[in-house]
Order: sequence, then structure tokens, then C-alpha cells
Amino acid sequence: MLDEKIPSIVLLSSKNNEHLLEYLASYRVLQAEPKEDTISFIENNAPSIVIIDNTETEEVNYRICREIKQNTGDRYLPIIMFTKTDRECIRAALKEDADDFITDKSDDLEILTRINSLLQIKTLYDKLAKERDQAQTYIDVAQTLIGVVDRDLKVVLANKKSSEVLGYPQEEIIGQKWFDVFLPERIRDMIKTGYNMVLEGEIEPPEFSEKPILTRTGEERLVFWHDVVLKDDQGGIMGTISSGEDITEKKQAEMALVEANKELQELDKMRNEFLANISKELQMPLASIKGFSNLLARGEYGEINSKQRDALLTITRNCDRLQKHVNVLLYASEDCSQNVIYYFEATDINSLLNKTLDELKINFAKYNLTLEINLEDIPQVNADETQLKNVIFQILDNAIKFTPANGKIKVSTSRTGKYVEMKIRDSGIGIAKDKVENIFKSFYQVDGSTRRKYGGTGIGLYICKKIVEGHKGKILVESVKGKGSEFTVQLPIRTQPDDYTTTENLAVAN
Ligand code: ADP
Repeated sequence: MLDEKIPSIVLLSSKNNEHLLEYLASYRVLQAEPKEDTISFIENNAPSIVIIDNTETEEVNYRICREIKQNTGDRYLPIIMFTKTDRECIRAALKEDADDFITDKSDDLEILTRINSLLQIKTLYDKLAKERDQAQTYIDVAQTLIGVVDRDLKVVLANKKSSEVLGYPQEEIIGQKWFDVFLPERIRDMIKTGYNMVLEGEIEPPEFSEKPILTRTGEERLVFWHDVVLKDDQGGIMGTISSGEDITEKKQAEMALVEANKELQELDKMRNEFLANISKELQMPLASIKGFSNLLARGEYGEINSKQRDALLTITRNCDRLQKHVNVLLYASEDCSQNVIYYFEATDINSLLNKTLDELKINFAKYNLTLEINLEDIPQVNADETQLKNVIFQILDNAIKFTPANGKIKVSTSRTGKYVEMKIRDSGIGIAKDKVENIFKSFYQVDGSTRRKYGGTGIGLYICKKIVEGHKGKILVESVKGKGSEFTVQLPIRTQPDDYTTTENLAVAN
């Protein structure tokens, strides 16, 4: 087996080298005649040094030397040339890229010294090349474009990703004028000017920027760049190192999203206008039907019998139900909900609660729900009774809806500081912690199956919140999934005795 640690030397010579071979006894020497396939012989044996002996004419030796240098690529393979002692010959050998020379006058010590120093240089070179290759591997693994541009505006480093995006092999990118080859013409001069100013130290490059690049096929791709100025030991600017992310697709998706968003906003506007119009259109005839039914029921247009009265009261009740639905439409349109007018008057929450509970009596019985009432003596609030009753109705209706049969609902009122508080607690299904904050959003239902199972539109609590806020109050909820929920409505106590609805104190929600 060959010892890898012993440096190998290729000796190209056809004469008897007994003497020389004696000097080189500590190396692995492979001798070959300088022939056609000299280059492949060298490639196959990968020596550390090549010695060309002057077996042929000087010209042939020079040619071989040139060919070896050309074919070793960026590897460093030292060549020692035997020359005549004549200075012209030595100069010619070195001119042909030989790294050193030996003459017929050189003794063993001189030859070994020359070989050793070239071997040391080779070892250092190989180490450097290995480190460079390793660094290249690291930057090639990166999924961002990495490149270095020097003071001549030429590319001195480009990683694999850069080559993939640009569509050129790495070696074709290196050495090219970056701005002239890889930037679209329309921005070329502007960016070049900026870069020259960076090189002169007049400006710092922007840390991050979005700039297009031009690929081999002429396609433009947008890159998000991060540039850093490279400086030498003395602080002189050598160029820039840049890393970039190809954001072409991301940007296109963003633009599409902006477009879609615009369209959605447009649709939303149309929906709001439609809802506003339709609710207004419904309100007028509804008010008229309810008004005339009331007048008829009260006998204002002549005597009616009890059957007729019952029918008219049913019409009025259904008008109220319809009114609720129209209100939903009104609040579903954001624009419109901001224009809801509240007719404030001194209101007793306890009596509003009792009235609403009375209307829902049948439901409590139907589901065998226990009702516990604990109403304290509380001051009046300033409220739009119809709207506030809608709030109480909605919370109670939900409590009934989401509490299984034989459950319990507790209603209480109290005073806390400047507020009166109404609490409606149920022993129902409760709401998961991460969903609670959503229930006041419009059209939100805790889970999709809710609508199928319990009905509803998911807008009731949203309207409640709007109304309560229109009364400068707060609506809060505490809930434990599977245990039940407690809704609290806080309203400010009425302070001004004359704060009844007049044209001046018509309040507008929000
Ligand atoms: P909906 O018409 O669907 O009842 P709401 O806005 O009134 O709409 O309520 C929104 C959602 O909040 C309901 O769909 C339900 O999931 C949840 N929710 C409201 N009240 C209760 C309650 N008392 N117990 C459990 N979940 C409730």
C-alpha cells in the first residue's frame, strides 16, 4: 500500500536519472517519458510536484509546462524545470509559468531545498483551497441568493441559489458586470450611480431594499436585498456582499390579496347600502301595519268582537317580531348601525326585566327551567326602552336556548357605584375560553353546528353590544364550557332629572 503522507513527484524525463533519483529517495517518484498522454498521466497520479527534465529541446519542455498549467484548472501544481545554467534559459523557463528551476550545477541540497519550499507552498495552497471550497458549500446550501460585487462592479462570488434564479451556471456569473448584465435596463443607471456613491463612501447602502433582477430568459424577478459594505483592513471599501430573497411570487400573491380586498370592500359597501335601503323600505309599511292594527284593536274605527281583537293583537305581536328582524338587517349594515337614534327616557330596569320575563314565561315552562329572580331596589337609568328591552330579551332568549331542559336561570340587579348592573346567569352549555371574546362579533356562532341545532343568526349579541355602548354602558360575559354563562350589563345611573328625549339629546350609537 502506498503511504499517502509521502509526497509524490512526477519526473518527466527519458534519460538516466540515477543521481537525481538518489536525492529524491525520501519521496515517491513516478517517472514518465514526456509523451502525448503526459497530461492524463499527471491527472491520474495527482502528484504534489512535477519535475521536467531537459530530455527534449527546451521548446518541448516549455510546451509541456504550459499544458500542465492550463489543465490543472484552479488547483496549484508546482512545476520545477531543469534548465541550462544560462540566465536566458532560466528566465524563459520561469516565463513559461515554471515555479522554480534546477540547473546541472544544482547540488542535492539545493534541489531538496527547492522541492521542500514548493511542497510547503502547495500544502498551504491546498489548505486554503479546501477552506474556500467549504465556505462555498456553506453559501451554496443557503436558500437565499448570496453574491459579492467588487469595486469594478464585477461579480466575484455567486452562490448556487443565485445561479438557479438567474438561470446561468455559477462560473458564467463570476466576472460579469453585475449591473450591466443582471439588472433591467430601466433601473440600471440609477442603481449604478447609487452603487458608485457607496464605493466612494458618500452614502451607506440601504440596509434592505426591493430591486428587480434580469434572468437569462429576460424575465424580471423581484428580490428583497440586504446589502453590507465590504472593507479591507485599512477601512477601504472593497465592494458589497448581498443576500437576497426572491419575493416575486410572494409579491404577486400580496398584490392579488390587495385586489381581492378592494373587491371585498366594494362588495361590503354594496351589501351595506342594500341592507340600509331594504331595512328602511320595510320599516315604513311595518310601522303603518302595526299602527293601524293597534288603532283597530282599540276600537278606534268602530266596535270589534273579541275574536277580531285577538287577531289584531296577533298581527301586532308579529309586527314586533318582524321589527326585530328588520333591526337585525339594520345592524348588519355597519353604516346604518351608526345612525341608530336612541330615544332616551328615565327607565326602570327591574320593570323592563319583569315585562320581558313575562313574555318568555311560556319558554321557561316548556323546557322546565327554574327561574330565580333577585332584583334589588335600584335607581333609574337613561335608556331607550324599546332598544334596552331588545337587549334583555336577546340575553334571556340565549340563556333559555343554550340551557338544557331542567336547568336554571338566575336574574339579578344591583347597584355598583355609578352604575346599575343586571346579571343573567344560566346553567347551560357554556362557551370555551378561547371563543368567549368572539361572541360579540357580528355573525359569530361558537361552532358551525350551533345554527343547525339552536337556530339564530349570530348577530344578536353584536346588536346588544352596540345598543349597550350607545347607552354608554358595558356588556360582559363570564363562561365555563359545560357549566354555564353569566352575562352582565352595566348602565350608568341617570343623573340629570330632565334628561328626557328631546331633539337636542337624541343620541347616536358610537
Ligand atoms: P345567535 O343568534 O346565534 O344566538 P348571538 O349573537 O346571540 O347569536 O350569540 C352568538 C353565539 O354566542 C351563539 O351562537 C352561541 O354560540 C354563543 N352564546 C350566546 N349566548 C350563550 C349562552 N347563554 N350560552 C352559551 N353560548 C351562548
